[in-house]
Amino acid sequence: MKIKNWFYNKLGIKTFKTPSVFKKRWLRWILLFVMILTMVITRRNNLQLNIILYILGIAFLISLIFDEELWHKYLCPYGALLNMTNKANIKKVKIDENKCKNCGLCAENCPNNIITITKEEQSIENTECLYCFKCQDVCNFNAILYQKSQLLPPNHKQD
Ligand code: SF4
Ligand code: SF4
Repeated sequence: MKIKNWFYNKLGIKTFKTPSVFKKRWLRWILLFVMILTMVITRRNNLQLNIILYILGIAFLISLIFDEELWHKYLCPYGALLNMTNKANIKKVKIDENKCKNCGLCAENCPNNIITITKEEQSIENTECLYCFKCQDVCNFNAILYQKSQLLPPNHKQD
């Protein structure tokens, strides 16, 4: 949410960190189940209820208050499905260790908080990637790659 970030930076507003009680990957599967169940029940009973609209509203509110990762990584039902398709994706977002300068900008800007940058490790948890490419946009050294894993240098770590 570029506009939100710009606005918050201007006003000095900080979002809350993700509460540890929500840091459970299975939560989004429950929400996905509840969402599908609610859709089925409303269809069968001819009820006018736009579930997607409600979910978008809730996602928007949560993302205004908390770090974006809370919704994307732990609560979003769509994120649960994306996680499965990401596993099958042969292309990965990777960090070229030969180009990376360890500045940490990519990690700071990743909405899902899935980039690890330390002296010893530069890696991305691809199964949780949103493919927003914010990391690529902010990297001044062209060190973020999106390509088939085998095209990376042989010494590159796999996720
Ligand atoms: S922004 Fe680029 S140079 Fe900086 S840590 Fe990330 S990959 Fe490395
Ligand atoms: S594309 Fe980059 S910034 Fe976006 S979620 Fe994936 S790792 Fe994070």
